Amino acid sequence: MYKTIVIGTGPAGLTAAIYLARANLSPLVIEGLQPGGQLTTTTEVENFPGFPEGILGPDLMENMRKQAERFGAQFKNGWVESVDFSQRPFKVKVDGLGVLEAESVIISTGASARYLGIPGEQENVGRGVSTCATCDGFFFRGKKIIVVGGGDSAMEEASFLTRFASNVTLVHRREELRASKIMQDRARDNSKVTWALNRTPLAVTVGDTGIVKGLTVRNNETGQEELIEADGVFVAIGHTPNTGFLGGQITTDANGYIVVNPGTTETNIPGVFACGDVQDTRYRQAISAAGTGCMAAMDAEKYLEGTMVHDWSESLDK
Ligand code: NAP
Repeated sequence: MYKTIVIGTGPAGLTAAIYLARANLSPLVIEGLQPGGQLTTTTEVENFPGFPEGILGPDLMENMRKQAERFGAQFKNGWVESVDFSQRPFKVKVDGLGVLEAESVIISTGASARYLGIPGEQENVGRGVSTCATCDGFFFRGKKIIVVGGGDSAMEEASFLTRFASNVTLVHRREELRASKIMQDRARDNSKVTWALNRTPLAVTVGDTGIVKGLTVRNNETGQEELIEADGVFVAIGHTPNTGFLGGQITTDANGYIVVNPGTTETNIPGVFACGDVQDTRYRQAISAAGTGCMAAMDAEKYLEGTMVHDWSESLDK
């Protein structure tokens, strides 16, 4: 039996593993299908403190992993199929590894950005297609950008990207936006944002040189196909937290994000903690995920020592 099993190896899970390992708790870390998480799909990371020249996303994650291993964290590859948190020890069923037992569990399975699923999209991720304006906007200084989506994320990304871009075209499949009025107004008041409403994205279009040259859309009023030219396409159609394997045993919000006791990483089950994007609907940054990973490890340590006061339900009532 393990003291702690960490599920997920993005910045949150790996930071938790570093802290747990340094506390001599020999955590077992389950890697999942995408070891290293979302950062392995980005190129240069320029906003993670400590790297003045930037660092490649995959290198940053490899470094974190090595750091955790150096202190005794054990890594195993596998897909967590289900968990049983109804009794102690907790049970974690992993594809190919069977049922593992632990006194505490840290969930850091992240969230996956939703993609449009159109031709030209996946093969150009990191090469003109992005799902993270904060991460990649800087690379499009003085260029034309498209943001796809009609929710708050799309409005926020479009407004943010005008800091860099010469022009941002917001493409949405309907005439009405889903975004809150205040976010819409902010984008509408921005003279650098132009609107391509009622347009359904069909394909990310690439020029002869292999570089993204825009988004082909269907104009839903005329039925015609159009190419909206741009150097970058930012897809902002929401995220899906990776919580399906929990089978409803952990309290989540309406969108599936784990609910934690505010200011902590405690879930509704004492001894089960959550960190990173799986519980974060607001920040979704590598550094904020790493910060909550540190918190989860310290919370787990306190729980294992028997010195944690679990006051989750009390907080929810406030
Ligand atoms: P969202 O509200 O679910 O909006 C997703 C948007 O993407 C919708 O407009 C949707 O179109 C569009 N979309 C979905 N699938 C599509 C597809 N296959 N093709 C084309 N368009 C597609 O997601 P979100 O904007 O990420 O927001 C999620 C939550 O976070 C919301 O509760 C939001 O308020 C919150 N949030 C808040 C802030 C803030 O307050 N600062 C910032 C960001 C997010 P339809 O409208 O036609 O369905």
